[in-house]
Amino acid sequence: MADEMVLSPDIEFIKGVRAAGGDTVKRCYQCATCGVVCPISPEDKPFPRKEMIMAQLGMKDALLASPDIWYCHNCNDCSKYCPRGARPGDVLGALRQMFIKEYSVPKFMGSIVTNPALTIVALAIPLIIFLVVLGITGHLHIPEGRIVYSHFFPILYVEAIFIPLVGLAGIAYIVSLRRYWNTLKRVNGTEYRMNFGDAFVETILEFLGHGKFTKCEANRDRRTAHLLVFYGFVALFIVTCWLTFYDYVMGKESPIPLSDPMKWLANMGALSLLLGILLVIANRTKAKGINTKSSGFDWTFAIIILLLAITGILTEVIRLAGIRTLAYPMYLVHLMFVFYTIVYFPYSKLAHMGYRALAITHYKMTGKDIK
Ligand code: SF4
Ligand code: SF4
Repeated sequence: MADEMVLSPDIEFIKGVRAAGGDTVKRCYQCATCGVVCPISPEDKPFPRKEMIMAQLGMKDALLASPDIWYCHNCNDCSKYCPRGARPGDVLGALRQMFIKEYSVPKFMGSIVTNPALTIVALAIPLIIFLVVLGITGHLHIPEGRIVYSHFFPILYVEAIFIPLVGLAGIAYIVSLRRYWNTLKRVNGTEYRMNFGDAFVETILEFLGHGKFTKCEANRDRRTAHLLVFYGFVALFIVTCWLTFYDYVMGKESPIPLSDPMKWLANMGALSLLLGILLVIANRTKAKGINTKSSGFDWTFAIIILLLAITGILTEVIRLAGIRTLAYPMYLVHLMFVFYTIVYFPYSKLAHMGYRALAITHYKMTGKDIK
């Protein structure tokens, strides 16, 4: 006789899935087409059919431990072929959004950043911090002379705000990922064919080329957009680290001259980010015959990254044009988007990178990874 299973549906969870972009979840009638067409679904326990019924039944705890939700890379081949218009790709996206919040530490940060209606609050927080610091230290005015941003907002103050907060965010993110990994192991077992280190390195190497995106049929062009955004961030991260060395070790004052190769890297990084995010937005708005709808969470993130890139480029262009009254306020606005991107990292869409890396690593360790 089959084992009996007692279900205790979490009604609030089902409502949450529908509100986060999975409003079509109840349409699924379990035909299994999605699991067949998904290019990365394993033969053993395929997805996303089972996730659809688990979401319909409000099985939150089982879904929280799922590696499949994060292994999915949102290509939407499943949504294209779903005969019921249940949009399984979007339902998995809604689950990812909810679980970023669920695993977040502290929880209230997840509640603020994953809620598009509170984006204005999330942006107001750094702006208020900056204005208070500038006001207290007597820097809340446009400096005279050549435009040098550190004359307005000294680097030491910027670092005194960012370094502790980014450090705390990093610790919070590690705690969240640790909780996910422990749940993953507890529920899915630990019969591994590969050790964590080897599987993780393989995963990171795969990330560098975004190999799984080439398996998509419906949304193949997402790979270029993602690579541009990814490497744009990598270039800007390298330049930010270099700036610390430039200021403190070399004892020079930024901005870096236009002739410096690091400046070229910074500008290429900003352009790559801008082009990549414009492609992401164009892909979302383009009709491709796929039944899909981007959630408010996805749109918020895309717009924040777009504004991050635009304000970064304007900060440089306006400085070069010598318009002091515009340059300094633009720098402040740009710093606000920088804050959102790096301090809220564990709670925004960017957080998916860590969860996805662990899910892929787990797949490799259990021998289920689709090459
Ligand atoms: S989501 Fe669509 S394709 Fe998948 S099982 Fe349900 S009805 Fe079938
Ligand atoms: S969105 Fe793509 S990867 Fe995710 S379940 Fe659907 S077909 Fe598979």
